[in-house]
Amino acid sequence: KILHRAPAEIVKKLIDLGIMVNQNKSLGKDTIELLAVAYHIKAKEKKQVNISDIDKMFKKEINNKKHLVPRPPVITIMGHVDHGKTTLLDYLRHSHVAAHEAGGITQDIGAYQIKEKGKTITFLDTPGHAAFSAMRARGARITDLVVLVVAADDGVMPQTVEAIDHAKAAKTPIIVAINKIDKPGANPKKVTNQLTRYGLIPEKWGGNTIFVNISAKLGTNVKELLDMIILKAEVMELKANPKQNAAGSVIESKLDKGKGPVASVLVQEGTMHIEDPIVVGDTFGRVRTMTNENGKPLKSAGPSTPVEITGLSSVPEAGDRFVVFDHEKDARAAGEQRAEQAQMERRKQDNTVTLSNLFSTMKKNDMKKVNLIIKADVQGSVEAIDSSLKDIKVKGVLVSIVHSGVGAINESDVTLAQATNAIVLGFNVRPTPQAKIQAENYKVDIRLYDVIYDLIDEVKSAMKGKLAPKY
Ligand code: GDP
Repeated sequence: KILHRAPAEIVKKLIDLGIMVNQNKSLGKDTIELLAVAYHIKAKEKKQVNISDIDKMFKKEINNKKHLVPRPPVITIMGHVDHGKTTLLDYLRHSHVAAHEAGGITQDIGAYQIKEKGKTITFLDTPGHAAFSAMRARGARITDLVVLVVAADDGVMPQTVEAIDHAKAAKTPIIVAINKIDKPGANPKKVTNQLTRYGLIPEKWGGNTIFVNISAKLGTNVKELLDMIILKAEVMELKANPKQNAAGSVIESKLDKGKGPVASVLVQEGTMHIEDPIVVGDTFGRVRTMTNENGKPLKSAGPSTPVEITGLSSVPEAGDRFVVFDHEKDARAAGEQRAEQAQMERRKQDNTVTLSNLFSTMKKNDMKKVNLIIKADVQGSVEAIDSSLKDIKVKGVLVSIVHSGVGAINESDVTLAQATNAIVLGFNVRPTPQAKIQAENYKVDIRLYDVIYDLIDEVKSAMKGKLAPKY
């Protein structure tokens, strides 16, 4: 592009110079110098901004304890469909709008903040565990605490279990909100009992999980729930350094006809300012505008604040990380380098574990644990497979069942597999069409069986590196 010459011509030129290449080969520094001379242009080596260091930059100041100050907790609400996640989010939003912001126009930026007793809490507005794990799969750790909503008249349902497993896999603490206690059929005690089977045991029963019985519709005990969130957050001693350059993650993004690329981001470290040069995922820019969830323009945003920003050169993806740089040219260089790197990684065979490469990947990466997700047609089979797999004894390798359940292999399973580098095993079930596409895109291995023995045997052989190749 810079030389304004067709690739074929450059290849020919290089061959003339005695360098055998093709169009897909990347050129070393010496070759590029030679080429520059041949075309009479000046080549200068670009100052390298090492972007693998971005994550280090992200973490660097976190360890700089001197400037750490408490920050608001970031909460995700999860639970089975129709158990009241949206109702709770809506109730919180409407009942706790700060007085000076009432009357502002509510914007959907994927998150919002409320105030209770002078303390701020940030809620992510995207209920659903697929979103939660999708972010994690992209390396973003956003949520400090999960509020698990379980309807008191319905009890633990498949997505309740999914949510528990997603939160556990992310090592995110759970607060249980048993909802709909206003309903005639509500039986919070029975639901509490059910949850103990998944390791969620209330404090008064000797466990360490906070349970609150609420009605999201009427607002009953919602205040208590908030008090518990604040309490738990205080115990967790969540801190950040507002004095450093901002860093954080993308919650949502879109292309707006008028504004161009728009990203809702959560500032996790530091303080973001208007005009900051920024790298987001593999795009970059300058923070042109910054608004909060009430449409109010902001000049700066500190830790745990969600804001919508414009000024990026393209649309990043949810879960992408961002970092603010001191100088725009560094941000640009880093952004370009990230884009290149991302492309290379897409080309490169990745490290996804499959049953066929299990043994070699484990050896290569010094893995000691195989993560598995099990889906089967009936609960009896799930349990049989679960216990047989746990019985497999291969020296030095541990079987870990990240999630198991009844029903088709869905997108949530694939996302969880992606986030935990797990293999999905299906017994007498199939993936949904969307799950299948997603698995193909992200190279998640899904194996289907109709004989339990075959399933166990294949996993065992794979762990020993003796799985016969499949053609
Ligand atoms: P989501 O799918 O988890 O987001 O569930 P929604 O918030 O959409 O709630 C599903 C249905 O349950 C709606 O009709 C709500 O009005 C109702 N609902 C939610 N919370 C309560 C509650 O505390 N009490 C009662 N009676 N109904 C509720």
